[in-house]
Amino acid sequence: MTAPQLSMTETHALLSVRDLSVTFATKRGPVRAVDSLSFDMHRGRTLGIVGESGSGKSVTSMAVLGLHTGAEITGSISLDGQELVGLPERELNRLRGRRMAMIFQDPLSSLHPYYTVGEQIAEHHRVHFGSRRSVARRRAVEMLAEVGIPEPERRAGEYPHQFSGGMRQRVMIAMALVCEPELLIADEPTTALDVTVQAQILELIARLQEERGLAVVLITHDLGVVARVAHDVLVMYGGRAVEQAPVDALFAHPAHPYTRGLLDSLPRLDDADDAPLRAIPGSPPSLLAPAPGCAFAPRCARAAAASPSERLRCETERPLLSGPAGLPQVLDSARTGGTPLAACHFPGFPASEGVAS
Ligand code: ADP
Ligand code: MG
Repeated sequence: MTAPQLSMTETHALLSVRDLSVTFATKRGPVRAVDSLSFDMHRGRTLGIVGESGSGKSVTSMAVLGLHTGAEITGSISLDGQELVGLPERELNRLRGRRMAMIFQDPLSSLHPYYTVGEQIAEHHRVHFGSRRSVARRRAVEMLAEVGIPEPERRAGEYPHQFSGGMRQRVMIAMALVCEPELLIADEPTTALDVTVQAQILELIARLQEERGLAVVLITHDLGVVARVAHDVLVMYGGRAVEQAPVDALFAHPAHPYTRGLLDSLPRLDDADDAPLRAIPGSPPSLLAPAPGCAFAPRCARAAAASPSERLRCETERPLLSGPAGLPQVLDSARTGGTPLAACHFPGFPASEGVAS
């Protein structure tokens, strides 16, 4: 099975997601947690996926790793040309760890309390490479050193509970990278950490990404985190992509009103200490009964200020992800300065770029 080729000139994407939808059957009806999502990931790039809680970020990453059992998955996820949707569990298992790996928000839930961290990292290496115990053990210690754990030889013999939160997250990163995957998915890897440790972990991920030429998907609800490490950004709302753009373009000219709202809610250096936090008013959309039009319309300042006929369009016609010239496209993360895309009938692209030729 081959995914449609959108551009013949680019080197092919490491990860190519096309029209991905993930639907859960629930007692109250089908919940479409991810709806028609498309994006490309290239080696050596970091894609930040942002959005409020419940926007489908984790469901997307778990779909890429093939971790949803019992969900209906449609569309295509291809890793280096190999289709992952519908792949047997045994083959997915081989790819997980070996070619793609994931780090989670809470390392304790992924580390076994009864085994030393050295044993756990070494075991991972042995399973995937069939390496000898001594070799796997040495790789584990080297990996702990690489992620900045002091006295790695000694610490390899300690148990997860003997590590601080930040050090545990480093252990998770060591575990994820010991099999030298090409794709790393980090789902809120720093959310549980205090600000200083958070900065250190982000720095570590950025360094490893560059040194190893990794493709990194960094999932977060924090645009500040994205600004520090991502090359490209995908903004999700109600399971859909509402904006995709290179990070500089997104911060300079957020085209979607939702992205603008997220940026406005970031605390600023010049805020007075007692300034109230700005949040986007309203609540996230229902996934059980999705609106026919733009999911953000009920909370959208642009739609609220629109004429009745414009507003009707927002409420009834679903906007497609499109560039400034109005053409539907998919972000190509290999190109810096790639075209920003927004799913909005009235996007705020810079005026000079908005002129279609
Ligand atoms: P986030 O962006 O915060 O990571 P998630 O991807 O975890 O959001 O969840 C997206 C939506 O999918 C949420 O509304 C969540 O309740 C729903 N969801 C996730 N997993 C399941 C499941 N197994 N069954 C039903 N609904 C689910
Ligand atoms: Mg999540």
